Amino acid sequence: MSWDFETEPEFQEKLDWLSNFVREEVEPLEHVLKDASPTNPLRNKLIKPLQEEVKKQKLWACHLGANLGGQGYGQVKLGLMNEILGRARWAPTVFGCQAPDTGNAEILAHYGTPAQKEKYLQPLLNGDILSCFSMTEPQGGADPKVFQTKAVLEGDEWVINGHKWFSSNAKNASFLIVMVVTEPDAPPYQQQSMILVPKETPGVNILRNVGVGYQAEGEGSHAYIHYDNVRVPKENLLGERGQAFAVAQTRLGGGRIHHAMRTIGQAQKAFDMMCERALSRETQGELLAKKQMVQEKIADSWTDIQCFRLLVLQSAWKIDKYQDYLKVRKDIAAVKAMMPRVFHDVAARALQVHGSLGVSNEMPFAHQVIESFHMALADGPTEVHKITVARQVLREYNGTNGMFPTQHIPAKREEAIKRFADVIEADLAVNA
Ligand SMILES: Cc1cc2nc3c(=O)[nH]c(=O)nc-3n(C[C@H](O)[C@H](O)[C@H](O)COP(=O)(O)OP(=O)(O)OC[C@H]3O[C@@H](n4cnc5c(N)ncnc54)[C@H](O)[C@@H]3O)c2cc1C
Repeated sequence: MSWDFETEPEFQEKLDWLSNFVREEVEPLEHVLKDASPTNPLRNKLIKPLQEEVKKQKLWACHLGANLGGQGYGQVKLGLMNEILGRARWAPTVFGCQAPDTGNAEILAHYGTPAQKEKYLQPLLNGDILSCFSMTEPQGGADPKVFQTKAVLEGDEWVINGHKWFSSNAKNASFLIVMVVTEPDAPPYQQQSMILVPKETPGVNILRNVGVGYQAEGEGSHAYIHYDNVRVPKENLLGERGQAFAVAQTRLGGGRIHHAMRTIGQAQKAFDMMCERALSRETQGELLAKKQMVQEKIADSWTDIQCFRLLVLQSAWKIDKYQDYLKVRKDIAAVKAMMPRVFHDVAARALQVHGSLGVSNEMPFAHQVIESFHMALADGPTEVHKITVARQVLREYNGTNGMFPTQHIPAKREEAIKRFADVIEADLAVNA
């Protein structure tokens, strides 16, 4: 019997330290620090000492295995840590595990040549530079087969031309990992490759940085990029030619579940605020907490968070057990599909319980609701993940050739009567 929902006492001590550090030292930063650029002096003055403290505590870059300078804790422990980090906007940066750098580090570690690792991976792991994953195009993101940005090999250089859209963090990145068509005549899933592009390469033109709903125009960090005759050495290919889909999958498996772990923390924060308000605000002579429809919001939110958390931790446990993302594809897709709904619903209920204050820009709920849509799109839309879940689940079933389902009651009854005929007849005789 090995079911166990308890945390080892030694690791719980680390979680307690982490929880206190995030609340006391990291959460306040979001009210004074906006610009994530590693060249921003204010960012460095505020963030670097905290990063040093995290390194001293041996909690830096915990998503990485020990061979890459992480602690090799595995995904369950990472899940318990990430749900604390999710509470604070700057916590992933302070702990060296912010997206998209984590996923980019993962593919560099997996597919990078020794030279690529030295030039890009090491400074990324040290937290000295930031990176960008440039895949989505304006004409379609959910179906990567329609991407058109292409790279042609001319002598010893790749020449890249095309448009990319929603390339998060490009403005602060030192390099971009760009998905490009290199094999136009190959079957659809073997046409594209990944190429490393230093951001300062001539021809990398950021047209504008798009923001999301709560940001003013010009404030965003999701770049619309034109790649105009961008030339990089042929050694900048990451992985094999035509292997971009496999490389992207390596990155997304971990990335999706890490987002989910942090989302537990964000949903819990909205939930905490909802409970505090319900116990503080009175209407018609009694606390909101006494109103049944407010109680329903609290009960539904608590249940949603618990179910989601268990699914995330169980999936993390399966990743640790199998060490193979393909074996956990269904679980990760289910987590990814559930994440935006839980976050949206809890944040929206918390917003509602706060009334006009809740919808105002003096509380974080509108921000959280928009972020729930971010979760529903980035790394692929919810619908696509539900399709994956359904396809994987259906592989475990067979149809029937019969006219009626195998569980059709008349047939089942007839079968049972035949099977137990002797007993039934004997019973009838006794009771006649
Ligand atoms: C905040 C944010 C950050 C992002 N960061 C990055 C990044 O760093 N790098 C990057 O490359 N991309 C990034 N993306 C882009 C993201 O990956 C795409 O938005 C996503 O893949 C969907 O592509 P699309 O927006 O073009 O939507 P479309 O492909 O146009 O799809 C639109 C809608 O159609 C529906 N739909 C799509 N496919 C199906 C289907 N098979 N069945 C049923 N319904 C379907 C869904 O409702 C979907 O939302 C980011 C997106 C957001 C919102």
